[in-house]
Amino acid sequence: MSLRSPARRTLAALAIAACLLPAAQATAADRLVVYSARIEALIKPMFEAYTKETGVEIQYVTDKEGALVERLKAEGANTTADLLITTDAGNLWQAAQEGVLRPVESAVLEKAVPANLRDPGKQWFGLSIRARTLFFNSKMAKAGELSTYEDLAAPKWRGKLCLRSSKKVYNQSLVAMLISEHGEAKAEQIVRGWVANLAAEPFADDTRMLEAVAAGQCAVGIANTYYYGRLMEKKPELPLAIFWANQNDGGVHVNVSGAGLTKHGKQPAQAQKLLEWLASPKAQNLFADVNLEFPVNPAVAPDPVVKAWGSFKASPLNVVEAGRLQATAVRLMDRAGYR
Ligand code: FE
Repeated sequence: MSLRSPARRTLAALAIAACLLPAAQATAADRLVVYSARIEALIKPMFEAYTKETGVEIQYVTDKEGALVERLKAEGANTTADLLITTDAGNLWQAAQEGVLRPVESAVLEKAVPANLRDPGKQWFGLSIRARTLFFNSKMAKAGELSTYEDLAAPKWRGKLCLRSSKKVYNQSLVAMLISEHGEAKAEQIVRGWVANLAAEPFADDTRMLEAVAAGQCAVGIANTYYYGRLMEKKPELPLAIFWANQNDGGVHVNVSGAGLTKHGKQPAQAQKLLEWLASPKAQNLFADVNLEFPVNPAVAPDPVVKAWGSFKASPLNVVEAGRLQATAVRLMDRAGYR
């Protein structure tokens, strides 16, 4: 159909105006702004689902967590951001320390998110669980030889251990949790043992570390399970196996991706609704499954790929410890020569 006649042009103009009308009428309450350190591919599907369900549009900005916190600080009371999403309790804790979040009173969130996976000060809430555990080369080691993070410091693993760099917050959080559990002196002994056992310089990321284990450069390493999931989806033939650490002793080190309301957001009630929705059963799989993480809400089952790794006992320590002891952990790793 052509639109040459004046009547048709008028009709077309009306049709365009009708399409534009809802957007022109949209109030701030129909639109939320999210700053996210989780990449677009991980957040877009769930935001689309939220818009479909509620009509609330979500605009988002993705960047590194440090840059987003700096931006919130610089924008201060002028920010348009309502919610901050980031990975790792260490980062969430930092955001709270920097004063860019505000506490939320929510019975819904307190029910959906286990107490050890949210800020006791209520400024942030975990939304997915990331487990950092042991992985081994199944041709070089047996599951029965593995036991704990602490055991990786023992002489039997000399020249057989691979680790990611201590610069990554995941390892800073892991060591912070070891400090919380054992005290600084014992944690340092453990980290020194790891350094003595290294088969190679620490790797830039978990994937390269896992590839080194699979290639036989080392027998065992520590990584987040979703990196394992991604790698095995691409190369299922790799002789790489998962081992749930510390099952008789403290539990697997877990961390979270999570979110908090911005201190100066103009629509805290709307932002709280979004946060509560993200913790609800219908959104939990959207949040966790896209990155092969575990839902934080105990009422929700993980993705089948994740479920196939088996269940495990997680550390009951509050992940806030990862933030509280982060600086201590960084100094400890430096002293211990963990680069
Ligand atoms: Fe990661």
